[in-house]
Amino acid sequence: MTRRFASLVLTLSVCVLAPLTAQTPPAAPQPLTAIKAGRLVDPEAGTAAVNQIILIEGERIKAVGPNVAIPAGATVIDLSKMTVLPGLVDAHTHMAMTYKEQPENNYYYLTYVMESTPLRAIQAASNAIQLLNSGFTVVRDVGNNALYADAALRQAIEQGWLPGPTVIPSGPMIGSTGGQFWPTPEMYKQHNIMFPEYIDANSPDEIVRAVRENMLFGARTIKLCIDCKPWGYSVEDIQLAIREAATGGCKVEGHVQTPAGAQRAIDAGIYIIAHGNALTPEHHRQMAAKGIFLAGTDTPFTPYRGSEAAFARAVDNLRDAWEKKVPLTYSTDFDYWNDRMKDQKTGQWMTRGELTIEFLRTWKAAGIPAADTLRAMTTNGYKAADIMADRGPIKPGFFADLIAVPGDPLADIDALRTVSFVMKNGMVFKRDGVMAPADFFHPGPVRMPNGRWTR
Ligand SMILES: [Zn+2]
Repeated sequence: MTRRFASLVLTLSVCVLAPLTAQTPPAAPQPLTAIKAGRLVDPEAGTAAVNQIILIEGERIKAVGPNVAIPAGATVIDLSKMTVLPGLVDAHTHMAMTYKEQPENNYYYLTYVMESTPLRAIQAASNAIQLLNSGFTVVRDVGNNALYADAALRQAIEQGWLPGPTVIPSGPMIGSTGGQFWPTPEMYKQHNIMFPEYIDANSPDEIVRAVRENMLFGARTIKLCIDCKPWGYSVEDIQLAIREAATGGCKVEGHVQTPAGAQRAIDAGIYIIAHGNALTPEHHRQMAAKGIFLAGTDTPFTPYRGSEAAFARAVDNLRDAWEKKVPLTYSTDFDYWNDRMKDQKTGQWMTRGELTIEFLRTWKAAGIPAADTLRAMTTNGYKAADIMADRGPIKPGFFADLIAVPGDPLADIDALRTVSFVMKNGMVFKRDGVMAPADFFHPGPVRMPNGRWTR
């Protein structure tokens, strides 16, 4: 260490330590909000209680029950004609990737080459607002997000710059040579085209380095390409990634596209398997026994996407996974756009949130009961996102992330298509069906997790 560098380190240390030794000012009183809920859903139990009061202090829930006293001065929000429930979770999406059907032949090479990381990050911010408007308060954002645009989005939302779901970013997907790309030799060798869309990690040392780098740059989960190429990861490779990710508090999701890859991921004890296409009934049985989450990414057949045959397979696979009691999450893999994505009745463009909720079609076609679908969209999603200590249940101590719908989603899951109220971190984002996000916009970091800047 040079002397100049040493003194710089000393200065930085003092800067970091100073706030800890300074006298802490008394905490400002937190605003109180009381929500009158006509019905309050407990998705874990699959039940609803009537006429509940949810008292919120600042960002967190303080009390819940039929007889909670409303303190003088509390803001009262009347949802007594509505059903209140926890915010929804998309357990597998791509906020900073929107590839176009044309001119890129429905693939994403051109997006990667032509759209800069800043541009994709800004679209991710727009997608975040659109998803929150449809009631999604948590997203797992798992790869194909340019140069850590997913981690930047998480920071921006956490610091209070703009509204959006809690983002669980993975950073670039880690895979063996090529990732999901099939680049030409000259593009691969001379233009370094793999990174930042994928990290090539071809040995135990490279796997450890890749996992550490993603965590250093803001990942909150780790995403592996298990079998994107015939030279995919072994059981030992996957276990190494799981051990290394655990040092940084991260769980591992495996992208799986072959039965053999699925078996290796299951044998390694992975936390989440993404994509249900390659999974057999025997895989489902093993996943249920081990408690491995499934992010099936069950694409519906719609005027703008899919085929009848693929939809039939997705429905059968999802149905079998449900019958075998695999812990299911609601997951979309949403990352595309075309000019047919319009509401059939109104002719209006559909938002990222509306396109995300369309995946209910697959769950309904699979005959999965509404209560189980709702559990996948909430409780299981929070568990898969590994944030159960802080978010999910509408209970004292948890962040106030909740939504309200006019109908009853336990009886008719399509009630979730009409989210008329959204609260995130105790702040109202949408009320009476209208976005009113002013409280979320700030010019500086007003919310700093752990009281400091973090990646
Ligand atoms: Zn995906």
